[in-house]
Amino acid sequence: MKLLYRNQITINKQLREVWVYEMRKKHSSARLKDDKIIIRLSSKISRRLQQEHAQNLLERLVKSLQKQPPKITKIWQDGEIIEAGDKKYLLHLQEKKQKTVTGKLIAPQAIKVNIPSNLSSKTKNQYIFKLIRQILIKDQQIWLENLSSVLNQKHFNYKYRQITWKNFQSKWGHCTYKNEIVICSRLLFMPRKVLEYVIIHELAHVKEKNHSKKFWGLVQNACPKYKEHKKILKNWQI
Ligand SMILES: [Zn+2]
Repeated sequence: MKLLYRNQITINKQLREVWVYEMRKKHSSARLKDDKIIIRLSSKISRRLQQEHAQNLLERLVKSLQKQPPKITKIWQDGEIIEAGDKKYLLHLQEKKQKTVTGKLIAPQAIKVNIPSNLSSKTKNQYIFKLIRQILIKDQQIWLENLSSVLNQKHFNYKYRQITWKNFQSKWGHCTYKNEIVICSRLLFMPRKVLEYVIIHELAHVKEKNHSKKFWGLVQNACPKYKEHKKILKNWQI
């Protein structure tokens, strides 16, 4: 993959970088990755046609991004109940004169988080969310293992090494070549069916490593409504 050029574009008042690559592939494509627009152009076509493809792909992507609602940051509040995995947790949130965000599980179903008082509300909420995820992935590990094992026995009976939560930024799940499965901790806060779909998706990768027709067939059998769940994942806000 060769980087041809970089650019910037403003969509919905948000400045985004555009990275244009050339690839030894038949088709050109565009997608959003970590807030960056990545355009891949086929090296098998002329420069002029590449330019045309880049422009068309960018226009199409911009149109679909303009249709998306702006991102809302969830505001975490003291005393709120967090539903995650198979539990409900009470959040004790306190502003303190300290430099870092700290917190822990203080009871089986209560989390305490202390935050520096001098942060902007956006940063504060991002820090709180990150910390809550770090605390909950430990508390919800066994639940994840059990859920995955139930789904595996019901639909596949494959052998995988382990399944763990991870605080991914832009991925929902992953299955390595050693069949170690990782699931994004944001799924703790989403409807159970959606989490189950992602687990089924990664379990299916134990057998089929690519997103081939065969792969989607396995997913479809185990989770007939998977397309609906994919849509929820795409539009998820926090
Ligand atoms: Zn996949």
